[in-house]
Amino acid sequence: YQAKKSKKGWRFFDPEMEERIQERYRNELSLRQALRGGHIFLMFQPQIDLARRRLRGIEALVRWKNAEGVILTPKSFIALAEESGIILELGEIVFEQSFETLHRWETLGLRGFRLSVNVSPRQFWSKNFWEGLSGRIARQPEAGQRLCLELTESLLMQNPEEIGNRLSDLRSMGVRIAIDDFGTGYSSLAYLSRFPVDEIKVPQEFVLRMKNHEQDRMIVRTIIQMAQSLGIDLVGEGAETRAEIDMLFGLGCTTLQGFGLARPMPIEPMEDFIRHPDTWPFPDFFQQEG
Ligand code: C2E
Ligand code: MG
Ligand code: MG
Ligand code: MG
Repeated sequence: YQAKKSKKGWRFFDPEMEERIQERYRNELSLRQALRGGHIFLMFQPQIDLARRRLRGIEALVRWKNAEGVILTPKSFIALAEESGIILELGEIVFEQSFETLHRWETLGLRGFRLSVNVSPRQFWSKNFWEGLSGRIARQPEAGQRLCLELTESLLMQNPEEIGNRLSDLRSMGVRIAIDDFGTGYSSLAYLSRFPVDEIKVPQEFVLRMKNHEQDRMIVRTIIQMAQSLGIDLVGEGAETRAEIDMLFGLGCTTLQGFGLARPMPIEPMEDFIRHPDTWPFPDFFQQEG
């Protein structure tokens, strides 16, 4: 693109591009305002071990309540946050609320599961993230044992030496490491044995396609077998229907997170859910324990 100098400084010839740049700038501005205005909050989605009738974990999922009161999901703002660097501040708020939640649940006696928090690569490598997280764990030591970080597989490949050290440090603070959407990027299986990974998440993408595509079923089966042989825990993501739940369960992936079990929910319904296992769906699974 060509640009020309005007009284206002450099301006783009292409009006469409200029429009896009301005829209982006407006979006960045409103995201920054949302951060400062307290319009960012967490929803929670359970991960249930159907074989043991146990709540294994809860994933914290960030939301933005915009000026019109509409709740936006990360799809509409995470990319912008990452590209603009706002993700650092956003991630900070997510951790602040996650640690508050852990403290609240400790006080309420709600235990026995981990809170999983998503961390973007850019956030992971920032100095603030590292100091912020270790500082929080130092002030709230029980939280380390209650926390799981969901990392992307692309992160594992960025700087293997350094990442190995970081993951070991996290583990020594009691934190668990999960690899989100495993198998959708370019990770090799070798990374799994090389790094201290506790858990992998089977992406919804495969779960959805599994029914109709034998290849996807084989991929899921392979991921499950490999995890089992390495002693890595599994969470199947995005199971919506009974058929999908049955299929994952049948392949040996018995801990599931998906709309078919429970949708992401605000904190208070989440607490009710934790307290009332009798209301969880699919009691027939639980009876199989015998
Ligand atoms: P993810 O970490 O893979 O999270 C799972 C996403 O799948 C969530 O979408 C969840 O609502 C959705 N999901 C769960 N079960 C089902 C299902 O049965 N069907 C369908 N269709 N979807 C299901 P959400 O909350 O929109 O988050 C999207 C992505 O945004 C997340 O994917 C994660 O990568 C990112 N994200 C969310 N919260 C944060 C955060 O605090 N920080 C960062 N860096 N990224 C986040
Ligand atoms: Mg996740
Ligand atoms: Mg995922
Ligand atoms: Mg996903």
